Amino acid sequence: MVKAMVVNKGDDGAVTRQIREISEAELPADGDVTVAVEYSTLNYKDGLCLTGSGGLVRNFPHVPGIDFAGTVETSADGRYKPGDKVVLTGWRVGEAWWGGYSQKAKVKADWLVPLPAGLSTQDAMAVGTAGFTSMLAVMALEDHGLKPGAGPVLVTGAAGGVGSVATAILANKGYEVAAVTGRPETGDYLKGLGATTIVARDDLSEAPKRPLDKESWAGCVDAVGGAMLSRVLTQMKYGCSVAAVGLAGGAALEGATVVPFLLRGVNLLGIDSVMQPYDNRVRAWEAITRDLPMDKLRAMVQPATLADLETLGPSILKGGVKGRVVVDVNA
Ligand code: NDP
Repeated sequence: MVKAMVVNKGDDGAVTRQIREISEAELPADGDVTVAVEYSTLNYKDGLCLTGSGGLVRNFPHVPGIDFAGTVETSADGRYKPGDKVVLTGWRVGEAWWGGYSQKAKVKADWLVPLPAGLSTQDAMAVGTAGFTSMLAVMALEDHGLKPGAGPVLVTGAAGGVGSVATAILANKGYEVAAVTGRPETGDYLKGLGATTIVARDDLSEAPKRPLDKESWAGCVDAVGGAMLSRVLTQMKYGCSVAAVGLAGGAALEGATVVPFLLRGVNLLGIDSVMQPYDNRVRAWEAITRDLPMDKLRAMVQPATLADLETLGPSILKGGVKGRVVVDVNA
């Protein structure tokens, strides 16, 4: 028997969370690698799965946790053997498949990545899906021509998980980072991660009133979406790119027009971490070990236990979590 955070839905539709013992026989039968989970984490999507919001979880009871790092215990696949350290993000684990909020997880070998050399399982989960996705966003911006010295790079939702890691990576690579936050009290934290300027959320939260505004940003990692993304598009410098990562502020591009694309050659780059091909996953994890300073990463971590998820799940959905929550599933 192992300990897990189990989400259930009652006949009245109410979703409840409970830490209970599950047997290994209950783990997904189709999995070919069993992993002794050491750390998981809390991402925005975990908040949705923990609270039964957004329709992500269809079958109950369910074990959430969209990412984890740990040690292979048994493997029916030649690529992994007992004792190997591994990381998992994406593939709808924790949504459609039992996930990492458990002392053991059983998954497909195709979904795993070997733990990058030089990274502990704890640090890998300090990165987690949020940080991994931030790196995919920075890689996409650079693949489209972004270089240090081009001007300020905007990071929206900066004090959240994606935003914090993006800020630290960009600053470490020599970019000037303008961090957008709705929490002015996080200013010192964001400057500590390397942000040069703090931009108040209110300055960008309203839908644009005209198709083009002053050219201000050489790039953008956007975790917020909605009206803020529409607004940012009007302020991009000529030929520059926005990496669209999230929708913490909404899904509809209110007030957006195609004019920034047509008159300024602005690129809107979609970033998906879930179905990312294996080679690009490995490339992103290698870049993380190279370009994300570990002291900055550890400075953004809030440690947690499975029991803490009861309150942290709803809290992240209200923008109430700063940086990265790392869950020690064995604590
Ligand atoms: P967090 O909750 O940690 O961060 C989101 C941040 O957005 C908040 O901290 C807050 O930052 C800001 N924010 C929240 N609500 C609003 C609002 N109404 N208007 C403007 N800003 C707001 O979540 P994550 O960093 O884990 O995820 C961020 C987004 O990225 C989510 O939408 C998530 O689903 C998405 N995502 C997408 C992935 C992909 O593969 N494309 C992978 C991972 C995440 P502040 O307080 O600084 O203003």
